[in-house]
Amino acid sequence: MHGDEALWYDPEPDDSRREQVLRAAAACPVQAMRVEGLYLRDASPPTLPDHGDDDTFRRTGRIAIVGASLAGLRAAAKLRQEGFTGSLTLIGDEPHEPYDRPPLSKQVLDGWVPAQRTALPDPGGLDAQWRLGVAATGLDLARKQVRLADGEVVGFDRLLIATGVRARRWPHPAEAALDGVFVLSTREDAAGLQRRLAAGPGRVLVIGAGFVGSEVASDCRDLGLPVTVAERCPAPLVGALGGVVAAIAGDMQRDHGVDLRCGVTVSALEGDGGGRLRRAHLSDGSVLDVEVAIAALGSVRNVEWLQDSGLAAGPWGVGCDAGSRAFTVDGMVADDVFVAGDVARFPHPLYDFQFLALEHWGNAVAQAQIAAHKHDQFADRSLGAPGDTRVLVHPVRHRDQVRGSPDVRR
Ligand SMILES: Cc1cc2nc3c(=O)[nH]c(=O)nc-3n(C[C@H](O)[C@H](O)[C@H](O)COP(=O)(O)OP(=O)(O)OC[C@H]3O[C@@H](n4cnc5c(N)ncnc54)[C@H](O)[C@@H]3O)c2cc1C
Repeated sequence: MHGDEALWYDPEPDDSRREQVLRAAAACPVQAMRVEGLYLRDASPPTLPDHGDDDTFRRTGRIAIVGASLAGLRAAAKLRQEGFTGSLTLIGDEPHEPYDRPPLSKQVLDGWVPAQRTALPDPGGLDAQWRLGVAATGLDLARKQVRLADGEVVGFDRLLIATGVRARRWPHPAEAALDGVFVLSTREDAAGLQRRLAAGPGRVLVIGAGFVGSEVASDCRDLGLPVTVAERCPAPLVGALGGVVAAIAGDMQRDHGVDLRCGVTVSALEGDGGGRLRRAHLSDGSVLDVEVAIAALGSVRNVEWLQDSGLAAGPWGVGCDAGSRAFTVDGMVADDVFVAGDVARFPHPLYDFQFLALEHWGNAVAQAQIAAHKHDQFADRSLGAPGDTRVLVHPVRHRDQVRGSPDVRR
């Protein structure tokens, strides 16, 4: 994949393109391409049977979605697809239309796709009120209101929480503020890091060899940059891959020229007199001259706005049942509040129903669809109206689509 083809969304492909896409998806050995139905504004919602109160809610209800990214957008689209014609408000603290994050550590850093070309398909086509660039700061469950940072409140009958995670920053604020120290979670992060990598730094340091850290190291090698990865575990991705496969992953990184140092931590980052990163000190006593460092230290769940809300929200996410219904602090199900995506902590059937939070694209989409479906309580219906031959193609290089629980929070 090159250039525009590397990230290509076409909600209305012509027949020959549709055929081409379906064949490519069928032949894709690692199933890295998704082909899905997509609800668009010009499509008529399906005709639904009358369900009494559910029907009234479907026509006149108010649904608020906090977190206007993958899970929020997919839930909103699913609600409209299932015939919800009431009011739909999406609240997002980022100023952008919803965009996709996996390309940020892949095509964007490589320089193939500009960061602003990562928008998720056609959010403008969704019939909704968008409150972008304003954070939700509180939730009043009794009054059924979301408080916003600009002082406004948004009332709802049903609420979806989809506030995801943010990157965990380098823990020493003065060092984290040095010019050249990055995290990678947003479009802005990716654009800034891409510019710095394109300038050809003498050496890049990646702190942490999880998925994001390993991908950044791979991008650096693709760009011909010297890169050191410092990982405190014995091999990269041990938690996700297990010791044997992780050791192989480590060998592969070294074969591709990554200076992989396992069993060490970074103890300090040092700047020059002008506030620019110059050196890194490692726990084994070694010192590296580096111009760029990426803290790939995992993530923090965006739950602060739910403090004192009465929901079971904490550092591990927002607790919910298998149907995405949020739990309250006393273990009851909050009927009108749902959770989806990276922020959701739910009983996972593959892991003996232990409560887990997964940071995974496919999980966010699946949960968004479950939550939207439960919002409406309509009869079971698969995604995509019967006979709807439109397709959404998602040919992103999801390098970490592996079996297992890549980033599990218990
Ligand atoms: C660099 C990178 C690469 C990745 N690569 C892959 C991959 O290859 N394969 C894969 O499966 N997954 C990958 N992921 C993970 C995948 O992107 C996530 O699982 C997915 O984005 C989760 O979607 P979400 O909607 O739950 O959360 P998010 O995408 O995190 O969206 C949450 C949104 O809510 C907003 N928000 C937070 N708090 C508030 C608030 N108080 N008020 C209003 N808005 C708020 C956030 O700013 C954000 O816009 C990657 C992630 C990153 C960062």
